[in-house]
Amino acid sequence: MRYNIYLCRKCGAVCAGREGASSFKCHFCGKRNIAERAIPIVKGVESKDVQQTIAKIKLSKIKG
Ligand SMILES: [Zn+2]
Repeated sequence: MRYNIYLCRKCGAVCAGREGASSFKCHFCGKRNIAERAIPIVKGVESKDVQQTIAKIKLSKIKG
């Protein structure tokens, strides 16, 4: 199973949504985002790599 990595439109948290799903729920604020209106940062991430990918994105955001 593959995931896309998105930014939540409400709170800006980095979220993973299943590839092909029409929406995903933010794990941080609980908002249901429409996938095609959200901002995909990375597409087609293997499920085993999702946590690592999110961690890398968070690190790069902190570094600016
Ligand atoms: Zn959110």
